[in-house]
Amino acid sequence: MIDFRSDTVTKPTDAMRKAMAQAEVGDDVYGDDPTVNRLQDMAAERFGFDSALFVSSGTQANLLALMSHCERGDEYLCGQQAHNYKFEGGGAAVLGSIQPQPLNNQADGSILLADIEAAIKPDDVHFAHTRLLSIENTIGGKVLPQQYLADAQALAFNRGLKIHLDGARVANAAVAQNVQISEITQYFDSVSICLSKGLAAPIGSILLGDERLINKAVRWRKMLGGGMRQAGIIAAAAELAITDQVERLAEDHDNASLLAQHLMAMPEFSVDVSQVQTNMVFAELDKRFDVNHLSLLLSQQGILISATYSLRFVTHKDISRQDVLTFVDVLKKCLPQVTVQ
Ligand SMILES: *Cc1c(COP(=O)(O)O)cnc(C)c1O
Repeated sequence: MIDFRSDTVTKPTDAMRKAMAQAEVGDDVYGDDPTVNRLQDMAAERFGFDSALFVSSGTQANLLALMSHCERGDEYLCGQQAHNYKFEGGGAAVLGSIQPQPLNNQADGSILLADIEAAIKPDDVHFAHTRLLSIENTIGGKVLPQQYLADAQALAFNRGLKIHLDGARVANAAVAQNVQISEITQYFDSVSICLSKGLAAPIGSILLGDERLINKAVRWRKMLGGGMRQAGIIAAAAELAITDQVERLAEDHDNASLLAQHLMAMPEFSVDVSQVQTNMVFAELDKRFDVNHLSLLLSQQGILISATYSLRFVTHKDISRQDVLTFVDVLKKCLPQVTVQ
């Protein structure tokens, strides 16, 4: 199978499976799992934080961050397109009584600083307390400029807000800019990082913060049912995600760029290549073609895509350069068979 639906489909490497089989474990709710502890210490050190917490998913990492920064009746500012607003089931509102204040994302993924300023509520009984600014990088595969992050941090600091990074794919942002991940995370009070996407761990995310925030997050995690026992089994793979898989992401970016070039040369698709900065390609398929039929034909040839007219292709460890070229060939054969009458 060549699976373009998401980088979440990556399988663990052989080295990860071996490390998992051999992992030393203990009961992590007691703080006894040496592999989890080593992972958390390593992540905190590498990414420049006091503390780190290994959690089950990116959604859980974001929810713990929101619930640890904000109290009932507080609000967080975020993008309309933010994962932790749009794609996390309204968890902050449902479970934390925290109100999101979504703001427009610009074409480059950023939120205008003026829009952030204007959305900060005065201290008045009519309003929720604005506590937190949440930024996402990469967002829709796009990288936010370092200067923008510095400016957002300064704004948050000056207005008494905390600042969180949904860094599910921050490793892609770092590799694309040829900087260390810590050069991006330095601007934030807390950061969530997915290890189970391009970094290929089977399960898990990391939440970074100061000791006080992480202590709160440990409590919320337990309440949410996320306290894990011999979690060293999965932490062993998560360690290798951080140490061995970051630099490799450059191949995914090259493959996305290759795919974008090919799609751009096909009249059936329109692609904005300026938006192809990491491992995602967005392409519009002309309405003369039946996208569901196309998706079906491709799947019969072992290629999986998400079927909407605005197509998103995600490249990752388990898609090679040759797979991209194979896909382009198969696509060219399939398109004439899926025209709408
Ligand atoms: C995938 C993703 C998440 C959530 O991660 P899960 O592990 O799928 O819960 C959060 N934020 C962003 C930007 C993501 O892409």
